[in-house]
Amino acid sequence: MSKSEGNLEAPTRHALDWKNPLFYDRDDCNKELERVFDICHGCRRCLSLCQSFPTLFDLVDATDDGEVHGVRKEAYWSVVDQCYLCDLCYMTKCPYTPPHPWQLDFPHLMLRAKAIKHKNGHVSAKEKLLASTDVHGSFAGIPIVVQAVNAVNSTKLARQLMDSQLGVHPDAWMPHMADQRFRWGRTMTGMASVAVNGQRTPGKVAIFATCYMNYNEPGIGADLVKLLDHNEIPYEIVEKEQCCGMPKLELGDTGGRGACLGRQHARAGPLCARRLRHRHAGAQLHADVQAGAAADVPG
Ligand code: SF4
Ligand code: SF4
Repeated sequence: MSKSEGNLEAPTRHALDWKNPLFYDRDDCNKELERVFDICHGCRRCLSLCQSFPTLFDLVDATDDGEVHGVRKEAYWSVVDQCYLCDLCYMTKCPYTPPHPWQLDFPHLMLRAKAIKHKNGHVSAKEKLLASTDVHGSFAGIPIVVQAVNAVNSTKLARQLMDSQLGVHPDAWMPHMADQRFRWGRTMTGMASVAVNGQRTPGKVAIFATCYMNYNEPGIGADLVKLLDHNEIPYEIVEKEQCCGMPKLELGDTGGRGACLGRQHARAGPLCARRLRHRHAGAQLHADVQAGAAADVPG
């Protein structure tokens, strides 16, 4: 038995067994959820990271004897729904990740539960619509349309409608659509041409702009390319992009658009980046990265 704990060194991530029919077995998943929730209840270290953990601990605290076995299995979904797979608990907090014998991988377990929910058709059409970031983004940059969409989205009436139809809280912050997309009219390569490798990093960068930067905050990308030019670091904006699929993965969609489960992900940024290195959407990025460029995924 290993004496080494995750978190004292880089945790070992095991591939999800997502092609195994047992992966989608609800009872088997519930057993694992109960095991992991029990460990988390005894630890509570991740309380402040996201809403999953307070939801879990409130459920446990509301039982007669304050133990996980008293929580109804149906209530597990309220914990699962709050996880957006940022990986923070796994990467930065948990002392029980592999190689620890408890083999705790909270995000992967949440993803398994989400996949079961998706496979059983319990993901609503409105959730799927909200996850279609490239569909919403198609309004960005179109003169008059984008101003109209932004104006309508800021009205109280529209927000009430979004609340009732899509479940978007009226006070939730919503990004505006950009007047000009990041990629439009932009030179696709930087001014520098000589790559000087660092000790542990390649000296050139492939930029995958992400939906958010392309459609909502192109200024982030503009700043990034200015910095790279200023520091004479060669870069290339990947030729073709589409949504990396992270919003769909958050709904448990393990099939569909080129699932990359079970492989190591690039982690240049918190969410989209983990989807990219082996994604079909990032094929050009993949090629660039294989050719020795660092992946940079702003936003
Ligand atoms: S991976 Fe999920 S449970 Fe873990 S910190 Fe992120 S949102 Fe919370
Ligand atoms: S994921 Fe790990 S660190 Fe976080 S509460 Fe659970 S056992 Fe503790």
